[in-house]
Amino acid sequence: SLCITRDRNKCILCGDCVRMCWEVQNVGAIDFAYRGSKMSISTIFAQPIAESDCIGCGQCSAVCPTGAIVVKSDRDRVWRELNDQNSKVIAQIAPAVRVAVNREFGLAEKENAMGRIVAALRRMGFDSIFDTSTGADLTVLEEAAELEKRLDQGENLPLFTSCCPAWINYCEKNYPELLSHISTCRSPMQMFGSVIKEQFKTSGKKIVHVAVMPCTAKKFEAARDEFKIDGVPMVDYVITTQELIRMIKEAGIVFGDLEPEAVDMPFGSMTGAGVIFGVTGGVTEAVIRRIAMDKTPGTLSSIAFSGVRGMDGIKEATVPYGNGERELKIAIVSGLKNADDLLQRITAGKHYDFVEVMACPGGCISGAGQPFTTLKGKENRGKGLYSADKLCSVKRSEENSLMMSLYKGLLKGRIHELLHVDYQGRKVEEK
Ligand code: SF4
Ligand code: SF4
Repeated sequence: SLCITRDRNKCILCGDCVRMCWEVQNVGAIDFAYRGSKMSISTIFAQPIAESDCIGCGQCSAVCPTGAIVVKSDRDRVWRELNDQNSKVIAQIAPAVRVAVNREFGLAEKENAMGRIVAALRRMGFDSIFDTSTGADLTVLEEAAELEKRLDQGENLPLFTSCCPAWINYCEKNYPELLSHISTCRSPMQMFGSVIKEQFKTSGKKIVHVAVMPCTAKKFEAARDEFKIDGVPMVDYVITTQELIRMIKEAGIVFGDLEPEAVDMPFGSMTGAGVIFGVTGGVTEAVIRRIAMDKTPGTLSSIAFSGVRGMDGIKEATVPYGNGERELKIAIVSGLKNADDLLQRITAGKHYDFVEVMACPGGCISGAGQPFTTLKGKENRGKGLYSADKLCSVKRSEENSLMMSLYKGLLKGRIHELLHVDYQGRKVEEK
């Protein structure tokens, strides 16, 4: 598939991938096949994984102890582009990446490594480097507006988040009748992809846009027809955190010796709301910050303590809406078995206004593209993102001054074209 690849010779038939696929993700794309010495792990009727029920979350590769299932690598292609004088290579770095690289270089895990990652990418030859948190700020503004509109009209509630491409795949394959409930907002990576390609289209060079993500499903998302213009994708390559670490090592960079550096202009400003997208509950918290009428600092902590934080697979919260005359009922799920349990409750009549779904347990901090860590390690990554939020002087997406200039400039009259998507059909080509 576009996301994972496997080497049957390394498989020891432990079954961890099968249990993950069935019991945690409720997907059931792979299982044991045949008996005795012929036993292997296979899709149904040994069909190619891309044609199976696989949703690309990659969690099978995250639990495989032998490397029999691994994330497909795009490193060689990215190195080729970096060495091409005619290419302008632009990177965006997802929030969850900054709290997952340090341990691989013998540094404190919880510490925010964003500045050093930027410095490393510059030394590797990237021409411009941005933070996906900026794209997340756009997502917050668009998704909050969509939620308010649906609440006004009382239609298509609950609104499901749309940031996670594995969740979109799951919904398309298992609950197509719910697609109208999914937000039309593109994911932060794709929103930012459209903006970056638009901004640099007159640079005179071939624009190559590389997204550094914690995620395997993003490789699939970037290849979707919905995110191409005349066959050209808005995001050309997605490399995972693990691939980034390999590339830093391949370049001979001593990561710990790097002085942290800032991202580039003109997209150099982001908010704490965008940074917390990487942990379960983060999207919800950012959207509530946006729609809350009370903008005093006390509101930020009451939102944080409303039940949106923590690593539980299913969380519920109730927050005041408007002038307080109404309450919003919110659910936050991570792990697709949990999502499916919640969907059963919703189809049985339980009401929510807003539902955040992340396919990986704990959210993107646990993405299959991240280096392996324990549950404690994942919690530390989440804490690292909340600390990064605390250090941001601007905490609400609507207070990001860049947003206003984007809406008045590049996005004027083109918001739907560049920031939204209609998930109805699905055609994906292999690279
Ligand atoms: S987790 Fe890896 S080693 Fe275990 S059965 Fe699956 S592919 Fe084989
Ligand atoms: S939760 Fe995050 S890392 Fe996992 S599949 Fe979804 S977007 Fe990717």
